[in-house]
Amino acid sequence: MSKSLKKGRLSPQLKECLEFYQELGAEFIFQRGHSDENQMDDEEIRFLSLEEEIRSCQRCDLARTRTHAVPGEGNRKAELLFVGEAPGRDEDLQGRPFVGRAGALLTKIIKAMNFSREEVYITNVVKCRPPHNRTPTRKEIMSCYPYLLEQIELIKPKVIVALGGVAAKFFIPEAPGIMKIRGKWHEFQGIAVMPTFHPSYLIRNERDRERKRMVWEDMQKVMERLGRK
Ligand code: SF4
Repeated sequence: MSKSLKKGRLSPQLKECLEFYQELGAEFIFQRGHSDENQMDDEEIRFLSLEEEIRSCQRCDLARTRTHAVPGEGNRKAELLFVGEAPGRDEDLQGRPFVGRAGALLTKIIKAMNFSREEVYITNVVKCRPPHNRTPTRKEIMSCYPYLLEQIELIKPKVIVALGGVAAKFFIPEAPGIMKIRGKWHEFQGIAVMPTFHPSYLIRNERDRERKRMVWEDMQKVMERLGRK
């Protein structure tokens, strides 16, 4: 077994799976695209292990009603992290974040920012769908937030975009409301946070062009900060 596999915090199933791939000679799994490192590093192993833990998590009651837990997806070394509220119906069915109508809109926004979906990482504060898409309770958020904290620690993004009131409140607990704090830079554990409206809110208020303009204004600040403008 490789040194990196020994060191990582792995469940027996994941360890077995990775060892199996190694035995098959599936080098692609362990390559990072840099010539100086041909093995999956500890952080990538931690990330896989964390995703696996989320998928089988039973920490709160949402485990009983979900179809799939949704850890998130994208580039695990992304400089830009999008964080929404919780999975909706489509996300719950597919086990992927932002894949419904709101997801299509978020993808458009990401492209307009000169990024691809694969370049950024997308996740939610709460990883399982609350029944009927209700707002997650404080208890559910408290049960789930350690996962998001660990994701942030591993990804180390330069900028976090908080989509909607729940995400904004998570990063800026003293926030008076999304309307007052959107478009202004905040900080969470040394990382720049830009709160803006959730894509679902834009869809629900489709005729309100002003809200869309505000989101675009906020995203331009993000692009500027990341040198994409
Ligand atoms: S919402 Fe979070 S804490 Fe609750 S079961 Fe899902 S992954 Fe676990």
